[in-house]
Amino acid sequence: METYKVAVIEDVKKIGFKEVKKREPEDRQVLVKVDSCAICTLEQRVYSGVMNRYPFAGGHEAAGTVEAIGKKVKGVQVGDKVAVRLLNSCGECYYCRNGHENQCTTSFIAETQECAMGPGGFAEYMMMDASDVYKMDPKIDLTHAALSEPLACCVHSIENGQIGLGDDVVVIGVGIMGALHIQLAKLKGARVIACELDDTRLEIAKKMGADILINSGKTDPVKEIQKITEGRGADAVFCTVPVAALAKQAVDMSGKLGRIVFYTSFHPDNPIDISPNKVHSTEQIITGTVNPMKKDFLIATRLLSGKLIDVSALISDCIPLENIEEAMEKAIRPDTYRIIVRP
Ligand SMILES: [Zn+2]
Ligand SMILES: [Zn+2]
Repeated sequence: METYKVAVIEDVKKIGFKEVKKREPEDRQVLVKVDSCAICTLEQRVYSGVMNRYPFAGGHEAAGTVEAIGKKVKGVQVGDKVAVRLLNSCGECYYCRNGHENQCTTSFIAETQECAMGPGGFAEYMMMDASDVYKMDPKIDLTHAALSEPLACCVHSIENGQIGLGDDVVVIGVGIMGALHIQLAKLKGARVIACELDDTRLEIAKKMGADILINSGKTDPVKEIQKITEGRGADAVFCTVPVAALAKQAVDMSGKLGRIVFYTSFHPDNPIDISPNKVHSTEQIITGTVNPMKKDFLIATRLLSGKLIDVSALISDCIPLENIEEAMEKAIRPDTYRIIVRP
């Protein structure tokens, strides 16, 4: 009997390997040979003990090649390069049925591998439902394809910001999510202003296409945005840093009819002061964004396949699956962007 390896986070800073039986795909199943799986915040939180859910088969940003398909699969063929959507939705709840599956009441309950709960991308193989497998361009670099999921999250966020041609758009924070927001906002035809404390990250912002860079440690970004926009304030602001004071800054720097998107979750979740009268009179929209929809995932795979978004500068390192603990340690360092694990 043929088996394959799955990495499982067993306890705080402890990852082991399980052998799982390799099966033939049934009717609507696709067996994917994993090429690359990126380490996201969810996996870092479980590994470092911030989230206690052991044993956990992590890895939800994966891409690979189709190895075998079930009889009823139509969308992909053996040998196709694919990205997989691993944080799926139940399909049965109110939100799944009214077209907002990203708000699914049971999302994050993924059970891809038989040996442990979790999305299970840190593995040599994954058995997927055909509906969660997205075909990519045959020439795509699969380390890039693995970033379809984080890109899809940003696509959803950008859509919520309703960017128009020529808009002044501010992106607060230039981690990987901020960097992807900058590229997407440029594609939407905006003038993009990046706010960040770290000069090295501001360099990345420039590489991503940002038009104006503000070091928020050196200049007051709210005043600076007022100056740049002739006193109007920004048309859309995306806050990608989990600090409540910056969420307040995002609201303060937006102008009339401005859209403010709280992209990140906030830790700690401190309340902020908002002037209800300002919201009333300016018709500002303050919203958030959480998880991508299927449509956002499809758009993300198309943007990567078509080379409209370039993630090469956002991959800090590729590390073999057997050295996954080393990869995790590297991923939790603040100076790295995405670390990719490769079986
Ligand atoms: Zn992710
Ligand atoms: Zn649901």
